[in-house]
Amino acid sequence: MKTLKIAIQKSGRLNEKSVELLKNCGLNFENYKSSLISPVSNFPLEILFLRDDDIPEYVQDGIADLGIVGENVIRETEVKVSYLQRLGFGKCSLKIAVPNTNEIESLADLNGKSIATTYPVILGKFLKENNITADIRTISGSVEISPGLGLSDAICDLVSTGGTLKSNGLKPFADVMSSEAVLIGRAGSEDEDLVKELIQRIQSVLRAKE
Ligand code: ATP
Ligand code: ZN
Repeated sequence: MKTLKIAIQKSGRLNEKSVELLKNCGLNFENYKSSLISPVSNFPLEILFLRDDDIPEYVQDGIADLGIVGENVIRETEVKVSYLQRLGFGKCSLKIAVPNTNEIESLADLNGKSIATTYPVILGKFLKENNITADIRTISGSVEISPGLGLSDAICDLVSTGGTLKSNGLKPFADVMSSEAVLIGRAGSEDEDLVKELIQRIQSVLRAKE
């Protein structure tokens, strides 16, 4: 019998909830310690623990059949995968934020400005849709300190409570996208019996939580 593989985040904001969801589905497995792969003892499934950024491509390429990842990461990597189920955790928004003292008041005021982000693809599309020409500065992290350092006029970053923005003297300015964790599958995987069975279990766990 075929064994499915599901990729989840190894550590970070989605790890704990992803593990909890799978355990609540009645799946028995060891949590990530040092091995990348954990077999499930009571279902033909293996759990792959990965960095979230790698999950969409692993699923698109069929290295994993399924994955749990934020919609923001899927949109940014522009992969072809099937959306199977929204999971209701990892909720956040991708927002443009500007310094509190800034004179930027409307979207048009972003013309000619520089915006630091780790999401250049999503931001680029958003600016294009709104006919804004701005300089996108792609950086790999700590985006929120960039205006304070004089590296950019604005930022585009994930926000949940807004606390990080506030403590860096920034205010949210425009919503680019909202996101939550979703179950994705290799294109066509939704027609497979084992995948259907797993989706059903996940849906009953989500229903019980309502
Ligand atoms: P990795 O080491 O796996 O690359 P990471 O540092 O890129 O981890 P995390 O910060 O753990 O990622 O965030 C994982 C996901 O959690 C995000 O892609 C997003 O979908 C979601 N998320 C929810 N709230 C927030 C938030 N306030 N800031 C960032 N991500 C958030
Ligand atoms: Zn990441």
